[in-house]
Amino acid sequence: MRGLLRELLELLLPPACAGCGAAPDADDAVLCRACDARLPRLAEPRDPRPPLPVLVSVAAVSFEATAEDWIHRFKYPPPGLAGLAPGPEAIVRLLAREAAGHLPEGADLVVPVPQHPKRLTQRGFWPAGKLATEVARALDAPLARGALRRVRDTRSQTGLGRRERAHNVARAFAARGPLAGRVALVDDVTTTGATLAECARVLIRAGACQVAAVCAARRL
Ligand SMILES: [Zn+2]
Repeated sequence: MRGLLRELLELLLPPACAGCGAAPDADDAVLCRACDARLPRLAEPRDPRPPLPVLVSVAAVSFEATAEDWIHRFKYPPPGLAGLAPGPEAIVRLLAREAAGHLPEGADLVVPVPQHPKRLTQRGFWPAGKLATEVARALDAPLARGALRRVRDTRSQTGLGRRERAHNVARAFAARGPLAGRVALVDDVTTTGATLAECARVLIRAGACQVAAVCAARRL
C-alpha cells in the first residue's frame, strides 16, 4: 500500500530537491548536488568535549549558514503551516539521519528531548520528536517518545550564557522508567549541551547505562 501511495505521489509530484525544487541527481536524493554542497557539514561530527554525563555527542552540520536557515524554517513554520513545509522538514530529517550515522555504536533506545505540552499546543508539533523517528529508523532501535517529559516550562535557551543555560534547564525533566541499556538522546540543535546533560542525568538516574546525543546541528 505504501509503495503504491508513493508511486501515485511521485506521479503527481515528481521528485524535486527539497531545497530549490530542481531535479535531484538521484531520484531518492533529498537535495540536489548544489544545495547539498552548501550545507556546512562538520569536519568533526563527534564533539571532542561532550557535555558530561553524555558520553558521545554527534551532529551533522554546524548551526550556521544554510543549516541555520533550514532548521529555523523547520522549527518555526509560518502560522497555520505546521507540517505543511515539507522541504525544510525533509532536510532536517536528512541531517538527523546523517548525525546518527556518526555514532560509533548503536543504541538500545532512542529518546527525544521533550518539549513542554504548552509548546506543543503553541507550535502544533514536536521537532525533536520528528527527528527521533528518523534516528530510530537509522539505528534500527526502538523509539521511546515518552521516556522523558518536561515537568517545568523553561524559557528559550537563546541568548543565555553557559551558566544561565544550565540553571534554566535544571530539574526541568523527569524520566518514565525504569530504563536500561544505551540511550540515544535526540535534539535538533545543541549549543552548550546544557539540555542534553540535564536529560542524560535524568536518564541515567532512571537506569540507562550510557547516553549518547544525536543532534542535527551543533553551534560551534
Ligand atoms: Zn537544490
